[in-house]
Amino acid sequence: MDAARRRPRPPRARRAAGRSPVVMSSIRWSAGVVLAVLLGAFVFPLGCGQGPKPPPAAVAAPVVRVRVLTDATGAKLVASTLAKPVLVRAAGGQAVRLNLPVNAFVPVSLTPAGWQVGGAALGGTGDLTLEADPEGSVALADASAARPADARAYRGSLRFVPTAKPGSAAKAGAADKAGAFDAVNHVLVDDYLKGVLAAELYPEFAPEAYKAQAIAARTYAIYAARTAPDGRHWDLHSDTRSQMYGGVKSETPKSVLAAVETAGVVLAFGPAGEERIFKAYYSSCCGGATQTPQEGLGESTPGPYAARSVGRRCDVTAGRYKAKFDWGPVVVSRDELARRFKAWGRNNYPAFQKLVGVRKVEVARTNAAGRPTQFAVEDTRGARFLLGSEQLRLAVNYEAPEKDKLPSAFVTPVTEGPNVRFADGHGFGHGVGLCQWCIEAEARQGLGHEAIVRDAYPGAVLVKGY
Ligand SMILES: [Zn+2]
Repeated sequence: MDAARRRPRPPRARRAAGRSPVVMSSIRWSAGVVLAVLLGAFVFPLGCGQGPKPPPAAVAAPVVRVRVLTDATGAKLVASTLAKPVLVRAAGGQAVRLNLPVNAFVPVSLTPAGWQVGGAALGGTGDLTLEADPEGSVALADASAARPADARAYRGSLRFVPTAKPGSAAKAGAADKAGAFDAVNHVLVDDYLKGVLAAELYPEFAPEAYKAQAIAARTYAIYAARTAPDGRHWDLHSDTRSQMYGGVKSETPKSVLAAVETAGVVLAFGPAGEERIFKAYYSSCCGGATQTPQEGLGESTPGPYAARSVGRRCDVTAGRYKAKFDWGPVVVSRDELARRFKAWGRNNYPAFQKLVGVRKVEVARTNAAGRPTQFAVEDTRGARFLLGSEQLRLAVNYEAPEKDKLPSAFVTPVTEGPNVRFADGHGFGHGVGLCQWCIEAEARQGLGHEAIVRDAYPGAVLVKGY
C-alpha cells in the first residue's frame, strides 16, 4: 500500500502446510456473522452510488480485479515452457486456442479490425479474455519491455478492456488513444495476496507479521471489490495507490504460507451480529503516533480507527532493514515550495493558483496522539491555505528530487530565512490504521497474528468471511 519498495527475495521459509487449526479455533465466527459481513459488504452504502445487490447464492472465495496495465496501446505476452495452448476469447469474436512460442515476446494490440495476438487476428473490438493453463504460465509485459524475463505472470485470468471512447479523440484532443486498453488480472483474493505480501513487507519480517498483514490486505481488497463503482472494470491498482502487487514473481514461501493459513479471514467491526468489513488502511511506519482516515486522508470512511500514541514501538530493525522512525531535516527553499504548491495544486488544490510566494508553513492542528493533522501555508500577502497532512506531503513532494521527499507528514516545518526546514520527522507513510513496523515489533515480542491485528484496529473482530 503506502511507501513500499521492491526488495530482494528472502531465504526459503517453511512450506505451506494447509489451513492452520490455530487460526480456525480462536476466531469468532458463525453463519450469522458470515452472512452479516457479506451482506453488509454488498449493501454498504458509503455514498459510492452502488445500490443494494441480491446476496450471493453461495459464499465463495471472492475474485478481485487488479488493473496491471493502464491505457496501454500495446502489450506483450511471454509463454513459459509449461504453457499449453492459451484460450483467448474476444467479445464479438471467436474463442480460440493459440500456441504461443516459448520465452519470446508475442505482441497484443487492438486494431480497428479487432484484437491481434501475435499473428492471429481474433476480431472483436470488445473485451479480450486470456486463460493460461496452468495458470501463471503466460506472463504479461508492457509494450516497452526489453526482455522476456521482464514480463510478469499472474494467477487467474487476464482481461483486456478497451479504454478509448469512440469519437472522443477528436473532441478531447489527444486525451484518448486509439486502440488503448487496460489489462486486468481476475484472481482469487487469496492468490492475489500471495503476490501482495512479499511486495509490502521485508523478507526478514516474522511469519506472524505476514499473517497479520494478510488479514488486513485481504479485508482492504474485498472492501475495494465490494465498493467499486458500477460500470468500472477493475477494483485495485497494482501499486501503492491500492496495494503493491507483483503477481507470481513477487511470491515467496512466507507470503504464500501467510495467505494460505489465514485464507478467508477478514476484519469487521460494528454491533455484535452486524459486523461489516471496512477499508483496512495500513502504512509502513507510524513513527510513534497514528491518525484516523479523516485526519490523515480527509476520508470519513467508517472503521475501527483511533489516533494512538505507541511510543517508540516501531523503532526496530529487521535484518539489514531499519524502520524510518526518525528522519530529517529536509530543507526546501520557499520559492521552490511556492512553485511545487502551484504545480501540485493545478489538479489537487485549485485555491493554490492564488498563492503569491510562501512566507511560512506551520502546523495548524495536532491530534490526540501528537501527530500533526493539518498544516497552514501563508503566502507573502498573509493569505492562509489549510492542508490536510497527506495533502501537505504530496504538495511538498511534487516534482521533488527523491532525496528531498518527505517520508511522512509527521514533521514540524520551521521557516528559516529563504527556506523551510522540515524538522523532527517521524515514520514513513500516512500512519492510518495498521503500522507494518509495529506489527513486526509485536511479532518479535511473541504476539500471535490475531492479537496483533486486533491491536492495530481496536474494536475489530476477526471473521471467517468465506
Ligand atoms: Zn508504528
